[in-house]
Amino acid sequence: MTPQQTSERPPMKEVFGIQVPTAAYYLHQGHAWVALEETGLVRVGLDDFSQKILGTADSLKLPAVGRTYYQDKVCLALFKEGRKASFEAPVDGVIEAVNPKVRQQPNLVHDDPYGEGWLFLIKPTDLESNLENLSSGEANVTWIDEEAHRLLKFMETKGGVILPDGGAVVDNLYGHYPDIGWRPLIKEFFAKNLTTTVLEEGSIKDLWQDVYNTGNLQYCFNCSTCVSGCPASHGNPPLLVRNLARKVILGLEEELLMDDTPWACVSCSRCEEMCPMNVMPFELILSIRQWQCRNDETLIPPAIVEIYKRGYTQAVGVNLELRKSLGLAPLPTITNNQEQLGLFQEMLMKTQIVSDNDYMFKG
Ligand code: SF4
Ligand code: SF4
Repeated sequence: MTPQQTSERPPMKEVFGIQVPTAAYYLHQGHAWVALEETGLVRVGLDDFSQKILGTADSLKLPAVGRTYYQDKVCLALFKEGRKASFEAPVDGVIEAVNPKVRQQPNLVHDDPYGEGWLFLIKPTDLESNLENLSSGEANVTWIDEEAHRLLKFMETKGGVILPDGGAVVDNLYGHYPDIGWRPLIKEFFAKNLTTTVLEEGSIKDLWQDVYNTGNLQYCFNCSTCVSGCPASHGNPPLLVRNLARKVILGLEEELLMDDTPWACVSCSRCEEMCPMNVMPFELILSIRQWQCRNDETLIPPAIVEIYKRGYTQAVGVNLELRKSLGLAPLPTITNNQEQLGLFQEMLMKTQIVSDNDYMFKG
């Protein structure tokens, strides 16, 4: 279907300089808005509170058309200066269309959050019950006022920043006060249901179960032998299997979700051969990757972008001397052969993950 631009704007009130719709728009606790269309579809965007805090995004990861999402589960992300802010779906449903304009002009989400900056249309599957969890009308104003006060408190606690009560929130608040911390900010206000819980043996947490079923993670004593033989430990950032093992043992779920390094593994199995405790670190890496994909719909393995651009991912520099001694070129052949690289990129563009996110793969 062809998404139509909405020209209507809801009536607004201003709270701390933040525009708040007082009719027609429902607000979700993760700061997405919902507007019911005459067609039975639901239009979704992000509210002005989120945009005042985060400022203009560099790019967006929109949900895939045809895919089903559920209320309170992560469905989209904004990227800004290498940082990612995940947002939750405000209702259950199937994505019917995304706004093509915001892909080309992500600034629209910030500049016109309730109009041209809308994000997607979803066909709801449990609307009546989902709406009960959203605020609407004058309750939107009350809620944003509470959120603004929570924000003042948060800034004081996390960054020692004391702002006057009642003034306007400065645009791109995080950009002005980065000491408050990106991840805590996102977790506190936007991806509220990404919980940090301890993964315990016997719990229903699927990562823990995967790991326990395959190796002996509980016997890992942090010796670092796996790191010493791992070619990806020379990457940037380095893949440190030992650290990943600790994160799983300590149950640092949020840290694990944000950690890109498992995607730098080149599947050489050296760590598996070297580990004195038969932890099976390579299996651990695979389990973490699968678990990340299951838990974050917006995840795009960073290695894929690198492979697309260069034809290889990782740690070639470490073996420069070895390559030289064998008479090989400093970089893999494909990197120096534009024709081959072009064919390779063409092939990658036919895969689902790349075609769904084509805006990230421009060469
Ligand atoms: S996984 Fe094995 S090699 Fe790596 S730190 Fe743990 S015990 Fe040592
Ligand atoms: S299998 Fe992966 S984690 Fe293990 S040594 Fe090889 S690259 Fe490193």
